Parts: sequence; C-alpha cells; structure tokens
Amino acid sequence: MYSHTMTKARNVLIIGGGVAGPATAMALQQAGIDSTVYEAYDRTADGVGAFLTLAVNGMDVLRTLGLSEQVRERGFDTPTMVMEMDGKRLAEFRFGSPLPDGAQNQTITRADLYTVLRDEAVRRGIRIEYGKRLVGAQRSDGRVLARFADGTTAEGDALVGADGLRSATRRIIDPAAPAPRYVPLLNAGGYARDVDVPGEPGVMHMFFGRRCFFSYVKRPDGEVWWFANPPQKRELSQQEVAAITPEQWRAKLHELFADDNLPALPVIDATDHIFAGWNTYDFPRVPTWHRDGMIIIGDAAHATSPASGQGASMALEDAVTLAKCLRDVPDVARAFAAYEGLRRKRVERIVAMGKRNGDGKAVGRIGRMVLPLVMKFAARAAARQNWLYDHRIDWEQPVAA
Ligand SMILES: Cc1cc2nc3c(=O)[nH]c(=O)nc-3n(C[C@H](O)[C@H](O)[C@H](O)COP(=O)(O)OP(=O)(O)OC[C@H]3O[C@@H](n4cnc5c(N)ncnc54)[C@H](O)[C@@H]3O)c2cc1C
Repeated sequence: MYSHTMTKARNVLIIGGGVAGPATAMALQQAGIDSTVYEAYDRTADGVGAFLTLAVNGMDVLRTLGLSEQVRERGFDTPTMVMEMDGKRLAEFRFGSPLPDGAQNQTITRADLYTVLRDEAVRRGIRIEYGKRLVGAQRSDGRVLARFADGTTAEGDALVGADGLRSATRRIIDPAAPAPRYVPLLNAGGYARDVDVPGEPGVMHMFFGRRCFFSYVKRPDGEVWWFANPPQKRELSQQEVAAITPEQWRAKLHELFADDNLPALPVIDATDHIFAGWNTYDFPRVPTWHRDGMIIIGDAAHATSPASGQGASMALEDAVTLAKCLRDVPDVARAFAAYEGLRRKRVERIVAMGKRNGDGKAVGRIGRMVLPLVMKFAARAAARQNWLYDHRIDWEQPVAA
C-alpha cells in the first residue's frame, strides 16, 4: 500500500498541542526530524481540566526529553496511595520505585503540564501554529496533505494525529473507527485551602463512600487537591455536564456524602471554586492506528479512564517510541508498523486496567462487604506487578524494522 514511499520522514505534521503533540515534536527533534505542531485552539485553551498524575514510567520519558526537572518544579511527589472505607485503611499501594534521579510519581495540574511542554517546545525552536483545526488529510504524490478549518493546508512526509479523545485524524484514517466508550462515572474536583485533613503530603487518599468515590492528596504547602466520581448511568451530553454550576456540584456532593464518615464535606466546603465536571471515556481497542502516512497516538488511539493514572504517561511513551521508529526504520509505513508492534499490547492492557479500577469505584452493598478482602489481594498482586511502572524506553537502543 505504501510501496511508492520508501522514504524516511524528514518533515512531520503533528496535529494537537496537548501532551503527545509537543512531546513528539521534541522527540523527533532529538532524532533529527523536523516537525510543526497544529493546535485547534488558541493558547488559552491549555488550562482546561484539572490535575493528573505522571507515573514513574512517564517521568522516565520526560527525563529522556530533558523535561523532568521543569515538571518536578511545578508538580509534587505522590509516591503512595491509601485505600480507605468506613474509617478503616484497606490497603496501601506504591506508585512504582523512584527513578535513579530521585523522580517519583508526580501530581501536577494539566495546565502546568501543557505549559511546560509547550514553552519548552517553543524554546527549542519548534513551530506551534494555533487556530489550526484539522478537517481533512490525504496522501498526495507520496506526501501527506492536511486541510484545516480556516482554509489553509500543510504538507509533510507523515502526519501524526495527537488530537485527543475526539480525534479528527482517527476518523480520517478509518471512518468506521469506534466512538469513545462511555464509562458511567462523572468527575468533579477542586483545590481546598485552610482545611485540616489527616495524612502526610504526597499520599493519595482514596475513599469508597457509600454512594460516591472520593480522593484527596495534600500538597507540601497544605493545599488539598481532590476529586469525586459520582456514578452516572445515563451519558449526559457535554453541554449538560458543562451546565452544572459549581454550587449545583456542591449541593450534589453534599447529598452523595451525607451518610459517610469521611473528610469529603469539610474539603468540599473549603473549596472556593469546584471546577467544571466532565464525563469519563475510554477506548478498549481502536483497530486501525495508521494508513497512508498518517497515524494516531495518545488519547486519539487509546484514551483510558483516569482511574489508570496513565493517560499522560502513555502519551509520552508513545511520543518517544514513535520518534525512535521514524529515526531507525527507513520507511514511514514500516516505521508505523514497528511502532504499533511496540505499543499496542501495553496500551490496551493499561486501558483494560483503568476500566477495572473505574468499575471498582462504584461498589454496591455486597461489593463493599467483600472489598477489604479484594483490596488485600490487590495490594499483594500490585507488589509483584512491575510491568506498569518499570517500563523503560531506551533512547539509544535502535528499533528493528
Ligand atoms: C479529568 C482528567 C483527568 C485525568 N487524569 C489523568 C491522570 O491522573 N493521569 C494521567 O496520566 N492522565 C490523566 N488524564 C488523561 C490525560 O490528560 C490525557 O491522557 C493526555 O492529556 C493525553 O494527551 P494527548 O496529547 O493524547 O491528548 P490531549 O492532551 O487531549 O491533547 C489533544 C490536543 O489536540 C487538540 N485537537 C483536538 N482536535 C483537533 C483538531 N481537529 N485539530 C487540531 N488540534 C486538535 C486539542 O485541542 C488538544 O490540545 C486525565 C484526563 C482528564 C480529562
């Protein structure tokens, strides 16, 4: 299918300026390949969202890209997680072992992560064009031609769709691609000040409330970052979720936690502004990742429930793996095939794990009875499970076609 383009990519179009896009551009630059990032929104859109965790496998990729320090300056160490129910500690998990440079699992706002990646990409001379919404793309004379909503076009040897959950690139590559799967949990959260909650900074506390899951982590300066996952069977439209005001969220959460003995309500009441909620989605499997010089990576290819704690880390792993493949495999189509061979099994395993973790948040009455036992086994299994956090990508190691 690609036989007329047995050439190495020298110039790549990257769609999306979130996590995977700028990271791919910087990794390609390290591999000596030129690229331009095209982002649909203007730069003010990068503050959208809440906070996320970067696992040690993701932090190791940031080290490869020379970005670990900047991220650690803005985030904070969150090495452990404690699961609790009815005032009892059920289990404690470690988010992998620290890296040789001391980096641990980080909690950081999405806005800060986006800013670090974007500012550093720009500082390194990478072009990022804003207001460029991809609407079409096709192969033409061995090159890929991208069309944007503003009527402009761009041409490159390859196109990387890092355009997130609602990826246009995914639909262009495969119009029959599955839609994101709705995971029946809403997300709400905020940042609380001057509230006294138990526990040391950097410990992620997870609570199985009777009707809603709740979590908080204390930053070293005492600010409490929290989220809640109200179950929501019927999928609300984006507009319906966006229309829920902070005060409606506060009232809803009060109702959901009314029968629980946990620190949710004092934390919620100490929060000035509960941030806009959002739905949860994932992709168990997107069958076609690449075609005709175009490929999808990051959430576009394998969005996961936030319950995996791996969305951003997977996007970073993708970026560096793809750059290595385009560096080492002397043909775009074969480089993409090599990339898929290296990534598909791992990311699908993580998405499945995220779904299981998310399902476990909405436990019924019987589920709550067996939860202490389940957590005991889960903690034992996690202690033996190094596939998730110990994954390392050796930048120097060449990729075989
Ligand atoms: C609330 C929430 C909590 C999360 N928690 C975690 C967590 O704890 N740990 C974790 O690792 N991950 C978490 N994630 C996931 C993480 O944010 C994503 O997995 C990560 O941002 C994926 O990076 P990406 O670059 O693939 O997509 P995104 O960061 O979504 O970036 C996609 C970019 O493409 C742009 N775009 C979209 N369409 C077009 C188009 N047609 N043309 C041009 N540009 C376009 C978008 O504007 C956006 O800037 C969370 C996500 C959410 C929403």
